[in-house]
Amino acid sequence: METNSTAVTLRAPAQDSFDTQTLQQLDAAHYLHPFTDHGALRERGARVIVRGDGIYLWDSEGKKIIDGMAGLWCVNAGYGRASIADAVHAQMLALPFYNSFFNTTNVPAVKLAALLADLAPPQFEHVFFTNSGSEANDTIVRMVRRYWHLMGQPERQVIISRRNAYHGSTMAGASLGGMAAMHAQGGLPIPGIVHIDQPNYAENGRGMSEAEFGLEAAGWLEAKILDAGPDKVAAFIGEPVQGAGGVIIPPSTYWPEVQRICDKYDILLVSDEVICGFGRLGAWFGCELMGAQPDLIAFAKGVTSGYVPLGGVLVGSRVAHTLIEKGGDFNHGFTYSGHPVACTAALENIRILIEERLVERVALETGPHLKARFTSLVAHPLVGHAETCGLAAGLNLVRRKGETVHDCVAFAPMHAVGMLCRQHMFDNGVIMRAVGDRMIVAPPLSITVAQIDEMVDRIRYCLDLTLEEVRERGWMA
Ligand SMILES: *Cc1c(COP(=O)(O)O)cnc(C)c1O
Repeated sequence: METNSTAVTLRAPAQDSFDTQTLQQLDAAHYLHPFTDHGALRERGARVIVRGDGIYLWDSEGKKIIDGMAGLWCVNAGYGRASIADAVHAQMLALPFYNSFFNTTNVPAVKLAALLADLAPPQFEHVFFTNSGSEANDTIVRMVRRYWHLMGQPERQVIISRRNAYHGSTMAGASLGGMAAMHAQGGLPIPGIVHIDQPNYAENGRGMSEAEFGLEAAGWLEAKILDAGPDKVAAFIGEPVQGAGGVIIPPSTYWPEVQRICDKYDILLVSDEVICGFGRLGAWFGCELMGAQPDLIAFAKGVTSGYVPLGGVLVGSRVAHTLIEKGGDFNHGFTYSGHPVACTAALENIRILIEERLVERVALETGPHLKARFTSLVAHPLVGHAETCGLAAGLNLVRRKGETVHDCVAFAPMHAVGMLCRQHMFDNGVIMRAVGDRMIVAPPLSITVAQIDEMVDRIRYCLDLTLEEVRERGWMA
C-alpha cells in the first residue's frame, strides 16, 4: 500500500477526475475520522466527496447525490455560494487574523455581533464567539457557574440536561449530551451534570395525549430540581428540537412549562440552537417557535452554513449585565474567538438567508411542503409514523404498523434496518441519516418545492427496496 503521500499526485479538488482508490488508501492509512469505527471504514473505503452545488453533492466517481442532511445540519444556504468565497477571499487578503484578547477587535466580528443582536430575541444584546458548537457549550458551562458565583450563590453548580441530547464532543459538551455510548468513553459526565428523560412522545407517551405528555415530561425537570436541591441548580439546557437524537419534536406544551419551572426556581434556561438556529425550523431561533425565552443560546453550524467553522453564545441581558458590571476578567476564550474570516463568512451567509427570504420560505412554503410529503409516506408499509418541524423530518421504520404511534412494533435492533435503508439511500443518490430505525433529513434551506418532490420520490423508492430486502430476510411481521 502507498503510504508516502508526497509520492502521490493528488489532483486539485476543482478538477473532475480523481484517483478514488489512491485517496481511499491514503485515507485508511492516515486519517482517523470522527465518530467512526476505523477498522470497519478501512474494509469498505470512504466515499470521497469532491464538489457541491445547491442541494447536490458529487463524489470522486462522478455520482450525483441529493444531500438530505445539509452536510451535517449546517449548509443552510446550500453549496456553491461564490459570494461567500469572494467575501472570505477579500477578508483574507485584508486581514486573515487578529485576536480579540488585548483590547483589540476587528471589523467583521463587530459587525456580526451587532447583526446577531438584531436577529436574536430582544433579551440578547451580546455574543461570545467560539469555533464550534461544542466550544459554545463548554463556554456556557463556565459562564453559568461564573454567573452564579458573581450572584453570591456559588453552590449553584448543577446543570440539568436530557438523555439522548447532543451538545457536542468536548469534555463538557459530551457531558451535557445524553449519549450513553459517549459517556462510556473518557469518564463522563464531568461532575455537576445530571440528566432527565427526553420528551419523546412515541417512546414515552403511551396512554396520554401529546399535550398531557408535554406537561408530564416538563414535570421531570421539576422533580430533578427538587431532587438535586433548588439552591444547587444553575441551569437547564435543551435543544428546541433534538437533532442528532433523531429529530425529536416535543409537544407544544413542553417548552412553555419548562420555562415556567425555570422561572419558578430562578434557574437559567439555555437553548442549544446549534441545529435549530438560523432558520432550520422556520424561525431565526427555535426557542421563538417553542415559546421559551432563554437566558443563553448556543449557536454554530448554520451561522456560516459550514463554509468556515464558527460558533458562539448569545448572552441574554440577565447574565451579560452581571458579567459586565460585577465581573472583572472572565478567564475564558479561544485564540480564534471572533476570527475575522469566519465572521465574514457568517455575515455573507446571513445576508443570503435574508435576501432570499429562506427562513420565511421554510415557515410558509418548503417546510409545509416537506410536511405534506412526509405525511404521505406513512402510507408505506414500512413507515410507522413521520414527523416534521420546518426542514427537519424523521420517520420510523417498523415491523408492523399500529393504530397509534404506540402500537407500532419495532424491528429487532440487531437487524439494523435503519442502516440497511441508509445504504439503499446512498446507493440511489440521496443522503438520509439513520438514528436506530428512525430515518431523518434536514436538507439545505435553499431546497425548492420541486427538489423536495425529487428527494421524497427517491426516499420512497429506497423504502421499497428496503421493504423488499426485509421481506426476503423474513423480518416483517
Ligand atoms: C452539532 C451540535 C453541537 C456540536 O457542534 P460542533 O460544532 O460539532 O462542536 C452541539 N449542539 C448541537 C445541538 C449540535 O447539533
